[in-house]
Amino acid sequence: MLTAYTLDRRDRIIAVSPEWDQFALDNDGRAACQDQVVGRRLMDAITGDPVRMFMTAILLRVRASGQVEAVPYRCDSPTTKRRYVMLLEPLAEGTLLVSHHLENEELTELVIRVRTADFGQRAHQRCSICCRVKEAGLWVDPFAIGVNLDLWVIHTICEDCKQAPPQRYRGHQRRAIPDTLVASVS
Ligand SMILES: [Zn+2]
Repeated sequence: MLTAYTLDRRDRIIAVSPEWDQFALDNDGRAACQDQVVGRRLMDAITGDPVRMFMTAILLRVRASGQVEAVPYRCDSPTTKRRYVMLLEPLAEGTLLVSHHLENEELTELVIRVRTADFGQRAHQRCSICCRVKEAGLWVDPFAIGVNLDLWVIHTICEDCKQAPPQRYRGHQRRAIPDTLVASVS
């Protein structure tokens, strides 16, 4: 399934891929569906100030450089490690195409449940890029701990992901993008 969207130069979502609704229903529910998302600001859909700042910096960099950037990240389900790459492609007049491509997935025998903590609740910091959580001062992959976990988390970006150098697009697996997404920019 391809999830992709087009942003205008103020980071408003102006189009989403046809499969978006299925993905949204599977993952986030009705509020994330196309008719609810188009016209909204991307940053309103991202949880955690450090994550918004990280994403804002990438969007600025892609617009300034005019180059396609690839951001590898993890987006795990409770039982499965899933590696994706997000491609950010500059289009005309400050608009951007953002698409998410599954590179591989690895089913485990563990169940790692992750829920967003309420304000003031005791919680682990969790990196939204590598999915590691901070445990006793160290960033660890929750699947590497070897037991089922039920985690309450605060969304942030770990030091390693913050400092990772930008990656240019180098033939990462990339599924075809529907013309309608690019054509929405005009
Ligand atoms: Zn990280």
